[in-house]
Order: sequence, then C-alpha cells, then structure tokens
Amino acid sequence: MTQVYNFSSGPAMLPVEVLRRAEQELTNWHGLGTSVMEISHRSKEFIAVAEAAEQDFRDLLKIPANYKVLFCHGGARAQFAAIPGNLLGDAKTADYIDGGYWAHSAIKEAEKFCSPNTIDIKATRDGKRALLPMREWQLNDDAAYVHFCPNETIDGIAIDEEPDFGDKIVVADLSSTILSRPIDVSRYGVIYAGAQKNIGPAGLTLVVVREDLLGKAQRYVPSILDYKVLAENESMFNTPPTFAWYLSGLVFKWLKEKGGVAEMDKLNQAKADLLYGVIDNSAFYRNDVASENRSRMNVPFQLADSSLDKVFLEESLKAGLHALKGHRVVGGMRASIYNAMPLEGVKTLTEFMVDFERRHG
Ligand code: PLP
Repeated sequence: MTQVYNFSSGPAMLPVEVLRRAEQELTNWHGLGTSVMEISHRSKEFIAVAEAAEQDFRDLLKIPANYKVLFCHGGARAQFAAIPGNLLGDAKTADYIDGGYWAHSAIKEAEKFCSPNTIDIKATRDGKRALLPMREWQLNDDAAYVHFCPNETIDGIAIDEEPDFGDKIVVADLSSTILSRPIDVSRYGVIYAGAQKNIGPAGLTLVVVREDLLGKAQRYVPSILDYKVLAENESMFNTPPTFAWYLSGLVFKWLKEKGGVAEMDKLNQAKADLLYGVIDNSAFYRNDVASENRSRMNVPFQLADSSLDKVFLEESLKAGLHALKGHRVVGGMRASIYNAMPLEGVKTLTEFMVDFERRHG
C-alpha cells in the first residue's frame, strides 16, 4: 500500500507510533482485559492516566504552578462562549482582535454576552495579505480582556509575536498552533485549544487558566463551562472524554520522547521552509500571505490555473497525499502540517508538486 500522508486541518493526522500503541492496548489495557474507554473516569487506573497527561502537558508548555489545566468538552467553539461568560465580570466590553475566520467567529459568539470592541488587524503588505503588529492594536481601557487567535487555520495567517499588554488579561485561541513552538504561558490569562489538530482526537479541549481568574463566571453560565467548577472537580464535574484524554496523553509522551516543543519548533520551521520554498520558486503555485505572517501549520496555496485544481486533487490522492483541498471559504489547496506530520511527508508533497508542475505547467 502507498504510504499515506494526511494533510487534514482537523481532525488531523496523529503520530503513527501513538496509534500503534493505542491499537495494541485497545482491548486489553494495562492487563485489565478491557479497553481504557470502558473503565470509570473515577477509577484509580484512569485517574493515573489523567494525572500523567496533565503533568506531561504542563512539562511540555512549562505551565507555571498558578495556572489550572482543564480537560473540557465542546471544542474551541464552546470556549468562544466560556471566555466572555467567565471573564467579563462587570465590564460591558472586551477587546477582540479580528485577523481571520476563527477570530471573527469568536467575536460573533461574544456578541451574545457583550459589545465586543472589534479591532480589525487585516492589512496588505506588498500586495499580500498581512496582519498589523501588536504595537498597532488599539486596545480599549474598559475592556475586560483581549482575545486573539495567533494562527488562523483557514486563512493560513499567523501572529508569531508574544503578547505584552501590561495588566491586560490576554486570551488566546491556540487550537491550531499549541505545542508547535515554545510560548511564555505567564503572558496569558487563558489559553485554549481544541485537541483535534495538534494534540489528539476531537472531543477534548484543553484550557489553561490563571488561578486568579477563577470564580468570576456570570450566574447564567452553565456549570460545565464554569472554569471554577471544572477546576474544583479536576475536570470531572461530568464524565470527561476519557479516550481522547488517554490518547492525548500518549501524544504528550511521544512529544517528550521527540525532544519536546523546542524540537518541534525546529522541525515545524524546516517543514514550512521546504513547502513555502517550492511555492515561492514557482510561477505555477502561489501563496498570497506576507512572509512575516505565514502560518507554519496551515499552508494554503493556489494553482495559477485553477482549472487544474480537480486533477491536482485526484492525482495527489492517488499518490497518498490526502486532504489537500482548501477550505470552502478560501478555495485552492491547503496543507496542514502539524507536529505529527513528518518532514518526509512534506518532502513527498513537494516532490509531487514539482512533478505535477513539470507535467501540467
Ligand atoms: N479555532 C480555531 C483556530 C480552529 O481552527 C477551529 C477549528 O478548526 C476552531 C476554533 C473551532 O474548533 P471546534 O470545532 O473544536 O469548536
């Protein structure tokens, strides 16, 4: 069978070593004669899984002791509601940075809770799509917090700067970039990420919240979105997505074995350089994002002749290169190259692209 590389934006490729291990343990986990998804989340066996996963995640991101890690349901979109519900307090507004599709979706949800102060940072630089740097963001003193999305999965556009806004509570949607590079967690009030891109299976959402922000939820916030309730119950207020939690724990172990986030950072840079290099060296392919704002995780690209899109997708699929179709709102192609995508996968893609150009260019 052809080696398959899956460029899906999420749910996305998982490390093959992790899948093999899960496969081996599926029906007889730790000699219990049952799978890990069939045991109580309150059993000592599962609590050990849960605690190890949290510790490994903390180690990988160097999360300070005054932050809670919550293993939640509901995807990143549930957090779009949880954030204002937990953080607004008496404020009537919050700063929302609009740099793309997902940041915009968070704003739409926040409008149910307050009047967001929307700061549109979309710009053009040398005819390419770009984002305004943080020093140009016009934040509002009355805003309870500032929310931004450092990596826009659909637009393939990213902000690599780390926030430095004094006392302002910074909230970041890291769904498609978490664990891909080191970050300074202490600069953030809340970080959240749906697991299905750079962590593990869909169904789990990681939230990292500074302890002093707990206990401020509005009265109407459902208990399962109230950070204090989740923290007090060690993310087991209701039944957590146990299998996703277990599998994410295996991914964290895998990441540690691979040298952690610093090594991933280097690998992700090498993969992105390779792919953007092939796109930039050709008149046949195009990426329209300014170089400083290019995403290292999600690389959208267009064929100069879009009538070739269909055949590109058919041939790439036959070559074992899956899920390259761009998001419906952007069109063209998109290669998502999260941590689990090996350099070999990106090499195979670029070789295919060069060969496709030779045959169709
Ligand atoms: N935020 C970002 C950056 C995303 O990429 C996505 C999903 O693709 C979401 C939010 C929505 O995530 P979910 O489907 O888990 O709610």
